[in-house]
Amino acid sequence: MDRFQHYIDGRFEDGAGAFESLDPATGAAWALMPAADAADVDRAVRAAHRAFHAPEWAGLTATARGKLLLRLADLVQEAAPRLAQLETRDTGKIIRETSAQIAYVAEYYRYYAGLADKIEGAHLPIDKPDMEVWLRREPVGVVAAIVPWNSQLFLSAVKIGPALAAGCTLVVKASEDGPAPLLEFARLVHAAGFPPGVVNILTGGPEAGRALTSHPHIAHIAFTGGPETARHIVRASAENLSKTSLELGGKSPFIVFDDADLDSAANAQVSGIFAATGQSCVAGSRLLVQRGVKDAFLARIKAKAEAVAIGAPDQMETEVGPLCTLRQRDRIADLIARSLDAGARLVTGGGVPEGPGFYFPPTILDCSDAPAAPCLNEEFFGPVLSVVTFDTEIEALRLANDTEYGLASGVFTRSLTRAHRMIRGIRAGIVWVNTYRAVSPIAPFGGHGLSGHGREGGLAAALDYTTVKTVWLRTSDDPIPDPFVMR
Ligand code: NAD
Repeated sequence: MDRFQHYIDGRFEDGAGAFESLDPATGAAWALMPAADAADVDRAVRAAHRAFHAPEWAGLTATARGKLLLRLADLVQEAAPRLAQLETRDTGKIIRETSAQIAYVAEYYRYYAGLADKIEGAHLPIDKPDMEVWLRREPVGVVAAIVPWNSQLFLSAVKIGPALAAGCTLVVKASEDGPAPLLEFARLVHAAGFPPGVVNILTGGPEAGRALTSHPHIAHIAFTGGPETARHIVRASAENLSKTSLELGGKSPFIVFDDADLDSAANAQVSGIFAATGQSCVAGSRLLVQRGVKDAFLARIKAKAEAVAIGAPDQMETEVGPLCTLRQRDRIADLIARSLDAGARLVTGGGVPEGPGFYFPPTILDCSDAPAAPCLNEEFFGPVLSVVTFDTEIEALRLANDTEYGLASGVFTRSLTRAHRMIRGIRAGIVWVNTYRAVSPIAPFGGHGLSGHGREGGLAAALDYTTVKTVWLRTSDDPIPDPFVMR
């Protein structure tokens, strides 16, 4: 079996415990992963804290930090094929997707490399004579970065990149499901030449997560995962009153009006819900379709869902692979059963296939006559689309916003004026118009409500890892008058 290690204080080492990682395509154990306990976490956070104050890191210019990030970007690009294979093996995400996504992860490091020496302070035109006042942007401190199983290299890059650009140090906790690519990525951090302790990478479950988020040296917790875990994390952050940024789940509406280009919308919908076997926070999991085109649109996506090539994730022709865990498959099957009980109608898919591996077929549920079906509110995090019919634009907007989540949304229409009205009305962190699932290091990403708060990507993310220091400097040589002498 392959073996992986933690990366703490510039050294590769075993964890206090160990666990077997399963290959989702077969269900068989393929690698031995280290498991951090509270003592491992404590050493990692102390290393990051030391590194934060050490001259090897704190004394670097922002330009020098940018150069280290640029080297890391090049190493990620070079290692992308191997990292993609590892992610596919350990999480079941198909090789087509991991190859393309990890090559693009290098662009995130490149973007933040360029940004490192463009995080500027400000000079204030203060309302007092003989005074210079300016703002310094300083790194906030040690960052705890916690990611879920899907896209671990991507979801960690949107934290590591801006945090390092700002001058912070980090302890990154990979998910206990599929941690291989992130543990392997530590070798690139090491090779890039970051001083020991600047980036520490470990894995483990909730115990390690709790030790990390409540550690007194943590200044900022950057979390991606589910809302329930986020609640625990916010409670833990109360210990140090540390900052949090939370990227959580979604129940994103995908809205198709009767004037839309249906072929184009169908392709976007199929990739929006079945890509990554639906394990995507921005999955367009609620299709809201206007009555006049409902049958034509459903026929298109049903045909595509049934034609999808389901198979081994390491094969280039595979379009939908297994889910990451058996636990996830059980959850999905249970939510489908409860939704059918509530009146949802199965259009296609739905059954757990025979054979090894954690596979689940693309599934469509028509909930047009079942407004209370739980699949309209609960996140599947799997390849299941719930469909609702609407008649008017006002109804579409009401349905779109009828969720506690607020991450992403898609609008398909040829009407420019309607598109603008929808953009204004939808409560979500992202609105895609006549497209879906586009991301870039330049564009902020995040949501509100149960989808969390804070933004990743763009300049805003780097600023989020800084704190403002206000400096007052008196420019007069005259002595400060005695305050107790009346004039
Ligand atoms: P999860 O919340 O169960 O776990 C996420 C991470 O938190 C894991 O590393 C886990 O070990 C850790 N964790 C668990 N308990 C903890 C605790 N008490 N303290 C600290 N850390 C703890 O999420 P998951 O089920 O692995 O992932 C799926 C969720 O992630 C979905 O809701 C999905 O929508 C969300 N997600 C969001 C985004 C986004 O950017 N908005 C991206 C991908 C996934």
